[in-house]
Amino acid sequence: MDNKKVVKNYFKENHDDIRNEIIELVTRFVKEKTVNVPTDQLPKHPDMKLRGEEFKVADILKGKLNEYGIPYKEYARIPERPNIIASMGNKNTGKSLLMPAHMDVVPAGDGWDTDPYEVSLKDEKLYGRGTSDNKGQLASILVAGKILKKLGLDSQINGELQIAGLSDEEAGDPDGVDYGIEYLIEENFIDPTYAVIPDIGEYMKTIDVAEKGRVSIEITSIGKQAHGSTPNRGVNAIYMMSSLIEEIRKMKLEYKEHPMLGHPTMNLGMINGGAATNIVPGKCTIGIDCRIVPGMSEEQLIKQLKECTEKIENGKFEIKVIDSSRPHGIDPDNAVVEAIKRNATEILGFEPEPMGMGGGTYAKGLCLNGTIAVGWGIGNDETFHVANEYIEIEQLMSFAQITCLLALDLLK
Ligand SMILES: [Zn+2]
Repeated sequence: MDNKKVVKNYFKENHDDIRNEIIELVTRFVKEKTVNVPTDQLPKHPDMKLRGEEFKVADILKGKLNEYGIPYKEYARIPERPNIIASMGNKNTGKSLLMPAHMDVVPAGDGWDTDPYEVSLKDEKLYGRGTSDNKGQLASILVAGKILKKLGLDSQINGELQIAGLSDEEAGDPDGVDYGIEYLIEENFIDPTYAVIPDIGEYMKTIDVAEKGRVSIEITSIGKQAHGSTPNRGVNAIYMMSSLIEEIRKMKLEYKEHPMLGHPTMNLGMINGGAATNIVPGKCTIGIDCRIVPGMSEEQLIKQLKECTEKIENGKFEIKVIDSSRPHGIDPDNAVVEAIKRNATEILGFEPEPMGMGGGTYAKGLCLNGTIAVGWGIGNDETFHVANEYIEIEQLMSFAQITCLLALDLLK
């Protein structure tokens, strides 16, 4: 019998056992509070000593990998924020497939009908913070590894399957130090041929092959403070900024429309200036968020904004990049997309479609580093980051099965 058939039969014959194991894992993962917020927001989360504390989920993951007899490596900048990468198959072929899920979550927030850290089962759905972003997926890929091992199929994989639980996806600190995928790429701990990132939802209907980049910019106008009764003695920074805003609104972004991502966007989302009505304001700051498409760069955007500032008579401005990521887009006719389409059609009965996304996943860093990485995953992305987050148990089951099939299909 061919290997994929062996997997399909196993899932058919052991449905209830697999289901119970996945539910147990999700329940244990969700119970561990691995809330990731910027450090300055930590006081609002008294359960957290540090951001993330992903070690709590990693400990469960390592225990299970030991139990299943799957070797793994741990990479961590600090012990509390580890990345666990399990390795299966034959490493000598030089091909590898990374399947990572992140172990951190966003805060629970308000409005829950149940305890966000106690998984509750209702209508074949599991409710709880992290069930669909991204602890459910972690349970699915872990169970997939277990099953491949149990069926002796790990020796049939001609390449390395890396099943990973990673840290630090949901938030960053202003220092820019990353504890998850960027750390692993920078230190050269990972360099997979292929990667599937199960972190976009959309019920597996779309495959994310392109993502916009984000450039977050602050511009400050520098005037001169004076008494409000003698405005002629000062230079009004708010007037100066209002002239600049007019110029920015007229500015045309230089770009070429991308087949998947379309047009870039620019949003002026913040303005701040002045101390009191009886003071001529000395400073005014605006915040701009720009989503750029491949072909555009941070440098070019800054150059255009600088040209706007030069048009303001007697204007004095400071431009600061707060945060920046590059856009990426890969050829949608790649081996990973093809394998996903084939196996989804077999198991789910429909063919997912390659698309571009405005947001960012782990796929970005990996693609920019040369991996053929796509975002593709289970669940309803509208429940990500909101109250009453849930995942359908059948989605978790399907994803476990497809993870096995993808490994066998891509690494053969
Ligand atoms: Zn996520």
